[in-house]
Amino acid sequence: MVLLGPPGAGKGTQAVMLAERLNYLHLSTGDILRENVKQGTEIGKKAKSYMDKGELVPDDIVIEMMLDEIKTDAKDRDFILDGFPRTIYQAGKIDAALEKLKLDIDLVIYFKTSLKIVLFRLTGRRLCRECGENYHIVNMPPKKEGVCDKCKSELYRRKDDVEETIKKRLEVFEGQTKELIDYYKGKGVLKEISGDLDAEEVYEKLSVII
Ligand code: AMP
Repeated sequence: MVLLGPPGAGKGTQAVMLAERLNYLHLSTGDILRENVKQGTEIGKKAKSYMDKGELVPDDIVIEMMLDEIKTDAKDRDFILDGFPRTIYQAGKIDAALEKLKLDIDLVIYFKTSLKIVLFRLTGRRLCRECGENYHIVNMPPKKEGVCDKCKSELYRRKDDVEETIKKRLEVFEGQTKELIDYYKGKGVLKEISGDLDAEEVYEKLSVII
C-alpha cells in the first residue's frame, strides 16, 4: 500500500496505526532518511541539505535505499510505503523492481487535505527524540511540556516544520508529487480519503477500504 498526500496530511499517523493494529510493515522514507542523518551515514550526509531546505532528496539515493528496505524486510509481509514514491520517476522504478520480486502495489490512498489544516498540524507538531512519538502543541499536547509521555525524553520540532520550509515542501508536493494521483488512477488502484478528519475517523474510512 502507498500513502500519498501533502506533508501534514496524516500519512505517518495512519501508517503507525495500521502497523500497530493490522501488523503492516511501515516504511517511512522520511523516518529512514532522518535516522540516516542522525547516524551520520553516507546517505544521511548526502540527504541532509535537501531535507533541511524542504526539497526532495535525489531520486537515485531514495530509490536504492527504499528497495534495500523492501528486499530485506517486506518480502513476506504486507507493507506500507509512507512518503514514497514522491515522483513519477520513483514510481516507475519501484513498479519495475516490485514486478521482479513478484510483489504488487494494490492500493494507493490519497489523503486530500486543506492548506489550513496542513499548516496548523505542521507548525504545532513536536516529536520525541528517542521513540519518535508524535505530539501537537494544541491537539495532542504531552502531559508535561517538552517531555515525551511514553519515554520521558525531550520533544523537538523538526527543522523542516518551520513556515518557510513548509511552504517549499508544499510547492514540491504540488509540482512533483501530485501527478502521481493520475498515475495511480490510471492503474485503477487509487482511493481518496479526506485528510482533514480526525485520525480515528480517517482510520475508520481506511479500514473499510482495506
Ligand atoms: P517526510 O518525513 O515524509 O515529510 O519527509 C521529509 C523529507 O525527506 C522531505 O522533505 C524530503 O527532503 C525527504 N524525502 C522523504 N521522502 C522522499 C522521497 N520519496 N523522495 C525524495 N525525498 C524524500
